[in-house]
Amino acid sequence: MIEFIPYGKQAIFSEDREEVTKILQGDWITTGPKVKEFEQAVAAHCQVLQGVAVSNGTAALDLAIQALELPPQSEIITTPFTFIATINAILFNNHVPVLADIKPDTYNLNPDSIRQKITSKTKAIVYVNYAGQPCSITELQKIAQEHQLYLIEDSAQALGATYKNKPIGQFADMSTLSFHPVKHITTGEGGMILTNNSHWAKKLKLLRNHGMDKDIQERFGPQASWFYDIHHLARNYRITDFQCALGLSQLKKLSSFLQRRTEIAKKYTEAFQNHPKIQIPFVKPEVEHAWHLYPILLKGHNRNLFFTEMRKRNIGVNVHHIPPYKFTYHQRFGWKASDLPITEDVFNRTITLPIHPKLTENQQNYVIQSVRDILDKENQ
Ligand SMILES: *Cc1c(COP(=O)(O)O)cnc(C)c1O
Repeated sequence: MIEFIPYGKQAIFSEDREEVTKILQGDWITTGPKVKEFEQAVAAHCQVLQGVAVSNGTAALDLAIQALELPPQSEIITTPFTFIATINAILFNNHVPVLADIKPDTYNLNPDSIRQKITSKTKAIVYVNYAGQPCSITELQKIAQEHQLYLIEDSAQALGATYKNKPIGQFADMSTLSFHPVKHITTGEGGMILTNNSHWAKKLKLLRNHGMDKDIQERFGPQASWFYDIHHLARNYRITDFQCALGLSQLKKLSSFLQRRTEIAKKYTEAFQNHPKIQIPFVKPEVEHAWHLYPILLKGHNRNLFFTEMRKRNIGVNVHHIPPYKFTYHQRFGWKASDLPITEDVFNRTITLPIHPKLTENQQNYVIQSVRDILDKENQ
């Protein structure tokens, strides 16, 4: 039996490890200069003025929403077709997630559905660039402007994607990234908030560091005083310098990673575009897709049986995503599948195939052949 093929995984090389080792031998292993360097490098890559690095992508979302300082129980419209962290970040902040439905082609938020959900309590929209494909951002910006709503972009899956030839991360009031090992570049655990607004950047830096109004650099040296003040109830969401050294080294490889992901996606598309039981991902002309995921939709074939058969062959297919109304904890919010028919249908039929920079040609050929073998069997 061949070795298990995961749907996603990190691609770390010896030069990445050397950068980490260098930092571990130095004086600053956290809150030091590598954090700033990484923030500036990612922000520059996304053509944004400020980056604030934090301990993970969920923390980034939590802080972005916290920084808005909305009245308690504000309604925030978002997508059900996302990882649960997007929803939970709204809940952590005592706001009300309002779920709009997705589009049947891109599986991203449907602007018409968003419009139907707006009330006098709506204060923000959190949109997710699902699988690495940017949403209809111009449309979302229009809605936000018309109704005076904040826009937060969850780009955990979309680093490197572009919308109308501009990198994601620059379109919303704040945009968040994740550097989890399955994402485009990794720091082990890690995340970042991007913003052009220096007021928010400053607040985010306080909020990731206990709310302290001076950072460690300002409290060091002969001129510094011992006092710092606390204006906000805040957590410790800091990231370390050795993680940021890894991130900087990984960022240099981002374009080659994206190129490999694009190649893999192209090969799947060529293999499956005419298959009667497969709906391949639709890519809009105005985007460059970052291919975090390659989700296919099955037509006339049971997804769960297909999943089992693929796993039997040691292929790490997965379901992205389980909508929040399926989870025990989230039942209490009263969301119903029947109110979100497109999400429910896509969820029931979707399955993601392995895609990551270290996936070999042989492995991908094996995945493609397995998909064909399983779907071509009669009576499924
Ligand atoms: C991965 C992911 C997150 C969470 O990031 P972590 O770094 O794992 O906390 C949030 N939103 C989306 C859409 C994600 O894919």
